[in-house]
Amino acid sequence: MRLLDLLLPVPCARCGQPPVSPCRNCLATLSESPELPVPAGLRSLTALTSYDERSSRFITEAKYHNARTGLVELARWAARMVPAGVHGDLGLVTWAPTTEKRRRERGFDQGRVIAGVVGRTLGLPTRNLLRRGRGPAQTGRSRSERLRGPEMIARRRVDASGAAAVDRPGGVLIVDDVCTTGATLSAAAAALADAGHEVLHGLVIARTPDPGGGIDPGAWR
Ligand SMILES: [Zn+2]
Repeated sequence: MRLLDLLLPVPCARCGQPPVSPCRNCLATLSESPELPVPAGLRSLTALTSYDERSSRFITEAKYHNARTGLVELARWAARMVPAGVHGDLGLVTWAPTTEKRRRERGFDQGRVIAGVVGRTLGLPTRNLLRRGRGPAQTGRSRSERLRGPEMIARRRVDASGAAAVDRPGGVLIVDDVCTTGATLSAAAAALADAGHEVLHGLVIARTPDPGGGIDPGAWR
């Protein structure tokens, strides 16, 4: 994150008004997140908004046109949606990493950007706890492949006794940009649980209303 990204006014990706994207007016037009089951392995999942044509405009703009400021603004609002009871459970924030190929193409990992903002907003440290396996990005995979989720591997720390150490007590908030089937968050949660993290919550910018239909969020990933 460059300081300039935070200081320069950017036009709203929907209405074109500066200084932030989304502007407050357009933020207010976003739909509430759909009520869906919490993905396996998580105690809760908070989403800022539903993933639809309105919200996807901001997320796509941020991810593909290097407009990180839009992601920053959305992440700030998403962090404020975390319920107080969940916040009280948390010790740190991490993210579901994208593939190395995607990170290089885009110049940044959107999950990492979101996690940094969420950590600062919630007053929690951000830790790089996960890495992606060698499998393909979720984009272009069939629904059944996406349901299985990408391979996630926890970065292990070994303490003086040789046991894998959990570096900070308290729950982990795993952030991602969009939750479609929940498979990515579940894969991340499973890897962190194996590494000794017991309390796992999720936070995303947007959640797909009907994971089986509608616009194909895989196309955006
Ligand atoms: Zn606007």
